[in-house]
Amino acid sequence: MNADSAGVEIPELLADAMLGKLARWLRLLGYDVRYMQDDDAAIAHTARAEGRVLLTRDHQLSERRGLRTVLMQSDRLTDQLAQVVEAVGRLPAGAPQRCMACNAALVEISREAARSGVPAYVVETVGSSNDHPFHQCPECGKIYWKGTHWQGIERQLDEALKDGAVRCMANKDRA
Ligand SMILES: [Zn+2]
Repeated sequence: MNADSAGVEIPELLADAMLGKLARWLRLLGYDVRYMQDDDAAIAHTARAEGRVLLTRDHQLSERRGLRTVLMQSDRLTDQLAQVVEAVGRLPAGAPQRCMACNAALVEISREAARSGVPAYVVETVGSSNDHPFHQCPECGKIYWKGTHWQGIERQLDEALKDGAVRCMANKDRA
């Protein structure tokens, strides 16, 4: 899949109960991820009904008929992120991130607007004066900014993708 060309259709995703952390990080990267802790039948039904690609570590669930699935190969978050990105494609640069908690697309807010919900030292130090590092969830109001943790996961993901997720997984015991 060539994720660089314009108009690439990135499917919506559904993460099962074991993959809550993966779901939150995929949202922050901009993927539309529904997270369900229901039983297998309900998860399979929702994935079919909403046309979502199912992410699961459960072999039996992944074999259910009529589902598009990505059977996760690793317990490591970075490997899981890389596997999903390789399977469904990379979002175009500039796609909005989503709220880790409620999956709503984040909207950009000004540095001034961020002052109400962000520690003062963060407002003063994040980004430069002429960019827009602050985003807010329109559903729950949570404010996000590109701090070190966010940049760290993006860098790890870039490295995992450069290596190829498969090789990265094969090498994980050496880390
Ligand atoms: Zn939210």
